[in-house]
Amino acid sequence: MSTVKTRDAWEAMAASMTFNGQAFINGRYCPAVSGETFASISPLDGQVLTQVASCDQADVELAVSAARASFESGVWRDVAPAKRKKVLLRFAELVLEHREELALLETLDMGKPISHALKGDVPATARALSWTAEAIDKVYDELAPTPVNQIGMVTREPIGVVAAIVPWNFPLIMAAWKLAPALATGNSVILKPSEKSPLSAIRLAGLAQQAGIPDGVFNVLPGYGHTAGKALSLHMDVDCLVFTGSTGVAKQLMIYAGESNMKRVWLEAGGKSPNIVFADAPDLDRAAAEAASAIAYNQGEVCTAGTRLLVEASIKDDFVARVVAALKQWQPGHPLDPATTCGAIVDQAQLERIIGYIESGKQEGARLATGGQQVFQETGGCFVEPTVFDDVSNQMKIAAEEIFGPVLSVIPFTTAEEAIQIANDTIYGLAAAVWTADINKAHKTAKALRAGSVWINHYDGGDMTAPFGGFKQSGNGRDKSLHAFDKYTELKATWIELS
Ligand code: NAD
Repeated sequence: MSTVKTRDAWEAMAASMTFNGQAFINGRYCPAVSGETFASISPLDGQVLTQVASCDQADVELAVSAARASFESGVWRDVAPAKRKKVLLRFAELVLEHREELALLETLDMGKPISHALKGDVPATARALSWTAEAIDKVYDELAPTPVNQIGMVTREPIGVVAAIVPWNFPLIMAAWKLAPALATGNSVILKPSEKSPLSAIRLAGLAQQAGIPDGVFNVLPGYGHTAGKALSLHMDVDCLVFTGSTGVAKQLMIYAGESNMKRVWLEAGGKSPNIVFADAPDLDRAAAEAASAIAYNQGEVCTAGTRLLVEASIKDDFVARVVAALKQWQPGHPLDPATTCGAIVDQAQLERIIGYIESGKQEGARLATGGQQVFQETGGCFVEPTVFDDVSNQMKIAAEEIFGPVLSVIPFTTAEEAIQIANDTIYGLAAAVWTADINKAHKTAKALRAGSVWINHYDGGDMTAPFGGFKQSGNGRDKSLHAFDKYTELKATWIELS
C-alpha cells in the first residue's frame, strides 16, 4: 500500500522522474520515423515535461503491420483464454505496483488532483483489466436450437487489428476500457492516446510487455489526431476502430471508415447530462453535494458531468445556495497537494474555451451565482473556479453545448413532464440523474430519459459490471461489462448437416 505523500514529496518524486515520450511498436520503444516530436507541457506550471514522438502515416504502417503479423501468427489470439487471463491479471497487478508513478504521470500531464489519480484513476484502470480478465474464461459460445440432424454453432472470434483512439480527461481509464476487452478476446491493439496526455499510455506499454503480452500485440502511437489518428482511421488493414472523444471527431471517424474498409466503428462521445432535482428529493444537502461534485470532479472535464442542473422551481433558490456552499469544497488548488479536489485544466486552449463559455453565459443573460474567474495565473498553470450560472434557459449556448469544464447551468422546471422535456432536449444522451423520494416518479422519469446511464438519488454510479455508453449523438456500443465483448468480436455461425 502507498503511504500518504505530502506535496513536497510528490514534487521531489516528479523532479527525479524521467519521462518517456517514445512510441511503442512491436515490443520496442522507438522515436517517430520522421524524428518529429511535440512538447508535452504540464498544465500545472506551463513547463515542458518532455518531447513526445509525433507519429504519422509511416509509424502507423509499422504498427499496423506488427499488429497484423502478431494477430495472424496466433501468438496471442490462439492462446487459451485462461492463459490470456493470467497475463492480463499480471498486467493489472503491475499497474497497481506502479500506482504512484502512474498517478504522478497522470497529474503532471493532464492536471487532475494527485489524490484522485492515485485513489481513482489507477485502481480503476487495474480493475478494468482484472475484471475483464476474470470474465474471459467464463464466457461460453452457443449452440442454436436445431433439428436432430443439424448442429448450429454460434461462436465469437476476435476481430483482428483494433485501433483505440482515446481522449485526455481520464487517459488511463479510457485506454483500459478499450484495451481490456480487446486484449482479453485475443485481438492485437494499437492505442493512440491524446496528444494532450500521452505519457501514462506510453508507460502502460512497458508494463504490458512485462506482464507477458507478446510483441506486436499491444502498440502505442502518440501523435496528433489529424496525423496518427487519421492515418489509423483510414487504414485498410485496421479491422476495428474504438474511440472515446468528442462527437465532432466521432462523426469524422464514421466517414473515414466509409471511405476506407468499412472497419467497425464504436464511439463513446460527448454529453450534456441533466441532473433533475425534484422538491421531494430525500436529502437536499446530499443532492447539492453531489451536484457540486458532478460539475467539479476532474475539473468538469468528464463526459458524464452533470452540466445541466434542472431544479423544481419551488426549491430552486434554496437549492442553488446549497450547491454554491458545497462548491467551497471544490476550489482549485495545486494538483500535487493531496488535499486538492479541483486541479488544473488540461491546457491553455481548453482553459480559453471554458472562459469563452463563461463570457457567453454572461452575455446571454444568465446570472453568475459563483465563480467565473481564471485563478493562479502567476503559476503559469491553467486554473479556473467552478462556476454556477442560475436562470439559464436550455437554449443558451452554455446549456446546449458541451463545455468540458466546471461550468454549471441551473434551469428551473415546474412539472415532471417539463423536466423530462428539457432533459431530453439535447443532441446528447450519455447520462442523467433523478432525485426524488417518490418511487413512481423516480421510475417513470428514469424510463422517459433518453440516456445510456440513469442514476436515481445519486450521481455517477456504476462499476465494471454495468455497461457504459450513450444514446443519440453520445455514441454507439458499450464499454464495460460483458457487453463490451460485442465490440471486439465477430459472431460466426457454423452450420453442420449430419448424414
Ligand atoms: P477529441 O475528440 O478532440 O480527441 C479524442 C481523440 O481523437 C484524441 O486522441 C485525438 O487526437 C483524436 N483525434 C482528433 N481528431 C482526429 C481525427 N481527425 N482522426 C482521428 N483521430 C482524431 O476529444 P478530447 O478533447 O480529447 O476529449 C474530450 C471529449 O471526449 C469530450 O467531448 C468528452 O465528452 C468525450 N469523452 C467521452 C467519453 C464517453 O465515454 N462517452 C468519455 C470521456 C470523454
